[in-house]
Amino acid sequence: MNTETYRFKVGTFKCLVVIDGTHAYPYVPAWFINAPKERLEQVLREHNLDPEQYVSPYPSLVINTGQHRVLVDTGAGSMEPTTGRLIPNLQAEGISPEDIETVILTHGHPDHIGGNNDSEGKPAFPNARYVMWKDEWDFWTSSPSLAELELDEHLKQLLLTSAQNNLLPVQGQLDLVDHETAIVPGIRAVTAPGHTPGHMAIAIASNGEELLYLSDVVLHPIHLERPDWYAVFDFAPEQTVTTRRRLLQQAATEKALVHAFHFPFPGLGRVIQKGDAWQWQPV
Ligand SMILES: [Zn+2]
Repeated sequence: MNTETYRFKVGTFKCLVVIDGTHAYPYVPAWFINAPKERLEQVLREHNLDPEQYVSPYPSLVINTGQHRVLVDTGAGSMEPTTGRLIPNLQAEGISPEDIETVILTHGHPDHIGGNNDSEGKPAFPNARYVMWKDEWDFWTSSPSLAELELDEHLKQLLLTSAQNNLLPVQGQLDLVDHETAIVPGIRAVTAPGHTPGHMAIAIASNGEELLYLSDVVLHPIHLERPDWYAVFDFAPEQTVTTRRRLLQQAATEKALVHAFHFPFPGLGRVIQKGDAWQWQPV
């Protein structure tokens, strides 16, 4: 399998998952800050997972609706030597940055907005409107203290600098949403706060088929089985868990195809109800 891109369809919409790069995270605290240590070790063993780290892909999603070419999130850009492959990978698929008409930014973390601009600090997608939830834009552009997060100062600074550098240059092409509305026909904004104050999920529907794009509502498949285990990056833990339960319940009831940003590539699967929690079934 090609591990840089993955093609699939939602109804008549042509979708393409495109990798920007990867990053290795320690399970604690990056993914599970409040998980009891022994319980977590046991769950990782049950899943045959490397107990030390999880190598997460950073995928963007291109949706060609026939009328509109939409990109969801822009990867981490030049953040690390292992990231910044989004544009070359798009070009290898015959998509140039000028072709993208809408860039949806699910939230203001560096692994989702890092490719917003080119090396000169100009919007990398010159013809696109950049769409973000209004609360999210207001939060990151208000110089927040991030006092709520248990992150070390270095990482807090990285989040703030990244937001500053990646968001402000696209201000001239910005389109903010503050309610659940169609961004383009067939692609709707879904409110999903908690991971960040204005974190946005997306519902994509065409011809009776649906994709629920969760972005960072869940960060690892284990969050389906342990929805109360949250991550150090989850800004408001209680709200994160409430949003997570609501959208996982919806995905399971509707038997929708789901995409989760940090899940093993290509991040597509279905959510199966299991007791009062869920289970991930990758495609
Ligand atoms: Zn993320």
